[in-house]
Amino acid sequence: MDSRRNFLQTLSASILALSIPQHGFASIEDFYSKPYEGPVLRVAIMGLGSYGTRVAEAMQACKMAKLVGLISGTPSKIKNWQSKYNIPEKNCYNYENFDLIKDNPDIDAVYVITPNALHHDQVIRVAKAGKHVICEKPMALNAKEGQEMIEACRKANVKLLVGYRMHFEPKTLEIIRMRKEGELGKIMFFQGLCGFKIGDPTQWRLNKQLAGGGSLMDIGIYAINGARYMVGEEPVWVTAQETKTNPEKFKEGVDESIQFQFGFPGGAVASCLSSYNMSNLDRFFLAAEKGFAELQPSTGYGPIRGRTNKGELNHPHVTHQTVQMEKMAGIILTNEPAQVPVDGEEALKDLKIIDAIYLAVKTGKKINLKL
Ligand code: NAD
Repeated sequence: MDSRRNFLQTLSASILALSIPQHGFASIEDFYSKPYEGPVLRVAIMGLGSYGTRVAEAMQACKMAKLVGLISGTPSKIKNWQSKYNIPEKNCYNYENFDLIKDNPDIDAVYVITPNALHHDQVIRVAKAGKHVICEKPMALNAKEGQEMIEACRKANVKLLVGYRMHFEPKTLEIIRMRKEGELGKIMFFQGLCGFKIGDPTQWRLNKQLAGGGSLMDIGIYAINGARYMVGEEPVWVTAQETKTNPEKFKEGVDESIQFQFGFPGGAVASCLSSYNMSNLDRFFLAAEKGFAELQPSTGYGPIRGRTNKGELNHPHVTHQTVQMEKMAGIILTNEPAQVPVDGEEALKDLKIIDAIYLAVKTGKKINLKL
């Protein structure tokens, strides 16, 4: 009983956070208790790894998005997923033949959840097949690749969204609301600490060719993106310093830890840390003239905990990927606006900042940004 109540509470909170169009339903409870007959985004997942698995599970609770297809290089995984999620053979592809998805009218969008270096080519191929694309973060290895992906999607007239799940998280959105409505006053300072102790030295995340870098590409990007949505401005300069204690594990081009600082046009500054060698590093702090906001943990799968000068934030925990997929279905199917953008242009800004951080590390100089 308790788990059912929690499940419904989670769904209700998801919908509250989303302001999903109710399609004629009287209330949120109504939306989830009655059969839904509105449009549904039919999604194929590309890359059936650990995060793909999490997304697939979370999508089972969605009403507006449905897992209908699979793209993988491992036939045994396809078989298991087919029986688990009732996916027909005609909706299954591998990395060689997935361009054929263009002839499949039963798939609307592909969610690319593969190692970072593969995103660029895979997203462009999906766009050329005429399907909408959701791509995991980081969208690409650098801004040049990101720009090419945006252009390919524009040319193909398909939408490109990026898996920024925190953009739909209720406590995060409440702080953004407080900031927007002036309750915090002028923003002075942001701190973003993002990191974990990475294990297996042979994994793709520690391979420059597949990851495109190290902690910054994978986890530091949360502090970059978070600084932007918490402060509510785009940074105009960046400085950065790298620390490497284990060059054996973190080879050339794979950063272990990077500290970086931003300056914003309104005068706020940010101080951030990205690391593959510190556990439980998951904290955002925003200092403002009239108050403060704190999230810790700030970007994990949750529950996210938050408080401000007004007290604890009590919004119930939601499954981030369920909410994300409901909301993305709305963005793709009905052009619903996103409270915090999740499109390719938004991701390109993070990639431009990543390029600048690596340049600042290399040169030791302050790099000016124009986003
Ligand atoms: P993973 O290693 O668990 O899964 C990657 C999948 O890609 C595997 O199924 C693997 O077989 C497949 N793959 C295809 N070609 C490959 C190749 N050439 N080399 C290696 N694997 C190949 O990784 P993951 O943790 O699922 O991460 C995948 C993507 O999702 C990354 O871009 C990562 O940054 C992102 N991610 C996002 C979140 C989030 O919270 N938004 C969380 C975790 C991962």
